[in-house]
Amino acid sequence: MNGVNIGTNFQNEVRELPFSLRMCGHFLFLGFAILIIQSKAFQNFTGHKLLGMVPRNSAEVKTLRDLLEDPEVDFWMEPTHELQNVTVHVAPESHRKLEGKLRNMGLHYHTITDNLEEWIEREREENYPGSHLEGRDAGFAFDVYHPLDEIVNYLEDVSRKHPNLTKLLNMGDTYEGNVIYLLKISSGGNDTRPAVWVDAGIHSREWIAPATALYMINHLLTGYGTDRYLTDLIDHNDFYILPLVNPDGYLHTWGWNRLWRKNRAIANGFPGVLICRGIDPNRNFDIFFGGPSTSSTPCSSIYKGDKPFSEAESSAIRDGVMSLRHRMRAYFTLHSFSQLWMTPHGYTTLKSPDFNEHMDLLRMAVSAVESIHGQKYKYGPSAETLYATSGSASDWVYDIAGVRYSFSVELRDRGAFGFLLPRTEILPTSEETWAGISTIVSRLQTKDEDAKKRTSTTSTTPVPRA
Ligand SMILES: [Zn+2]
Repeated sequence: MNGVNIGTNFQNEVRELPFSLRMCGHFLFLGFAILIIQSKAFQNFTGHKLLGMVPRNSAEVKTLRDLLEDPEVDFWMEPTHELQNVTVHVAPESHRKLEGKLRNMGLHYHTITDNLEEWIEREREENYPGSHLEGRDAGFAFDVYHPLDEIVNYLEDVSRKHPNLTKLLNMGDTYEGNVIYLLKISSGGNDTRPAVWVDAGIHSREWIAPATALYMINHLLTGYGTDRYLTDLIDHNDFYILPLVNPDGYLHTWGWNRLWRKNRAIANGFPGVLICRGIDPNRNFDIFFGGPSTSSTPCSSIYKGDKPFSEAESSAIRDGVMSLRHRMRAYFTLHSFSQLWMTPHGYTTLKSPDFNEHMDLLRMAVSAVESIHGQKYKYGPSAETLYATSGSASDWVYDIAGVRYSFSVELRDRGAFGFLLPRTEILPTSEETWAGISTIVSRLQTKDEDAKKRTSTTSTTPVPRA
């Protein structure tokens, strides 16, 4: 691949950079970012509507899906199958056109909110930068959404506080010069232990995903040496957590457009199209590139880019996974929303060779999830459960990197607030998601240990011949 090796050779380890240089760069960039943020207002969503509807047959699903390419229609829940909920965000200038289309189809719809701005302002009041310190002396709270600089500070802090347990790795620089960080948590083993990978935030408006990944980092680090189950888990697995795949997009959701999904790159070959920035990194993997549910138009929210791995975000996952593929026990990628646990494939409804085992694991995972706060999640292969996706991370990890257990999770909720999930739901979502992930990892660990025992038994015990 391209020389990034995060298993044995820490050439890209962040700690190797002179501290003063790094901090200097950060302050410069932060200053610059603050200037940008302060020099413009937030994009206003007054009068933007969220409409809910349920297509009654496959023809209606198809008509709705034809709107996927329309940049004026922002699907929060895509049309997938008949009788499945669909949620659409639409700006005031496009209401009439969309509502006319729906009426012509004879499709009933209801208004979930006629002013998304109220929801966004409520969220902003709950999560202003620095709000994690409110009522606390210090520390980092896991029941609040954090802006990019607080997340970066947190990762640097934990890697300093736990030098024997963590390594903070730089997986590449983004279009806007932000670093894509990967935190390795390992108690030893010299890179021989199975690896568990969790990434989050490839879609920037899905704030609950990075919040959940940060919770997991804290849960593992504070549990090591104090909690028997977590200590055992860390002594048998190296955890690689990439809590924010798309920092550029995330910065944009905090500073300008809360509902931004893609990264912030300007598409190759479209230099004049400044108004339509961004490539969807989760359509940019080299697996069925350009297939269903992707777009070749830079203005589309599912624009795939002009070639596979053109983006820093998809490349960061590729490089990390490729260097760990031979010891990767399981891969998880976190999204929101819909409450689903999914296996490959996204680009075809043909069953994968591991279908039955994946279903058994997911059944266990969702029941562990439900046992925590009673929330129900559906599970199944991606293309059947959600909708067709091409060029996505979890398919690429399974098909090309050859990681047998590759899962994609859509976190809370099921549409009540969607991407604007209230902060009171952060901890419950994090706790239940961790229950699902740890259940799968433990199950796979037991399976490997049983297999090892069997091999050693057969090699040392003579088997009588019949
Ligand atoms: Zn997503």
